[in-house]
Amino acid sequence: MKIKLNSGYEIPAVGFGTWQTPDGEIARESVRIALVNGYRHIDTAAVYKNEKSVGEGIKASGIARDEIFLTTKLWNDKHSYEGAKEAIQTSLEKLDVDYLDLYLIHWPAPKALRDNNTWEQGNAEAWRAMEEAVESGLIRSIGVSNFMPHHLESLLKTAKIKPAVNQIYLSPSDQQRDVVAFNHKHGIVSEAYSPLGTGTILSDEKLNEIALKYGKSAAQVAIRWSLQKGFVVLPKSVTPHRIVENFDVFDFEINEDDMALIDTLESIGKTAPNPDETTY
Ligand code: NDP
Repeated sequence: MKIKLNSGYEIPAVGFGTWQTPDGEIARESVRIALVNGYRHIDTAAVYKNEKSVGEGIKASGIARDEIFLTTKLWNDKHSYEGAKEAIQTSLEKLDVDYLDLYLIHWPAPKALRDNNTWEQGNAEAWRAMEEAVESGLIRSIGVSNFMPHHLESLLKTAKIKPAVNQIYLSPSDQQRDVVAFNHKHGIVSEAYSPLGTGTILSDEKLNEIALKYGKSAAQVAIRWSLQKGFVVLPKSVTPHRIVENFDVFDFEINEDDMALIDTLESIGKTAPNPDETTY
């Protein structure tokens, strides 16, 4: 299942998350296992410090580069034109690929730039470097992460290329309806990170009752809920049977009543961080 981006490229709707996946054998093997079990979309970031192993996992899978959608992200200390240019190059080298499918500004307002009120300028400059990388073929689509409407409005004032996606915390526990509506209105695809609330929503009783009814796990129901909302969804696991389980979500459909019931599960686990209050 794929979703069309405003860049013209298609993105596989289920991607494989790698935050907190240790560099080395675990990252390499989990990425390889994900790919050989059907995933075609991998999400990493410079700050996860596992790009090298993620790249090795891709190679070890034996699956052609052009069949895989690969995302990485700009870290908070590189929010400038030169900084972003350099960061893109470093990520390409670490991943050992010729191009990135998607490159995101990880956070809109890093603390240092917030403190001296230069976060808007930082984003505009980094974005210009990202646009140039699109023009030169190093990146196919560009987007943002953790952007609230006011951050997007600021970026849209100077952006020549519109963001293709906004990757935000999205799970039944925090549905960020205002951000999702803003994204939608602007043709920006919402990507759901932490779709399992980093594991915190999986013991919820109601979610498990629904899961039982469909003969699925709570994780599968949460992932399926995200897909039916039209989000790109990014579950993470380093456990082989869970990696397989989280991709096995295409053979059932949650009915309208149960979708509505899941919509009521706000605050059953982790909720979204406020990007204007981060300490990094
Ligand atoms: P998820 O919401 O995907 O949950 C992952 C946790 O749940 C892990 O502890 C995992 O354990 C466990 N888990 C996974 N599948 C199952 C299952 N089927 N049954 C039981 N437990 C399960 O977490 P993340 O917060 O990592 O989010 C997913 C991805 O989103 C990240 O990896 C990253 O790529 C992206 N992200 C982006 C952010 C951003 O700022 N842009 C911020 C946070 C995440 P185990 O691994 O041990 O199996």
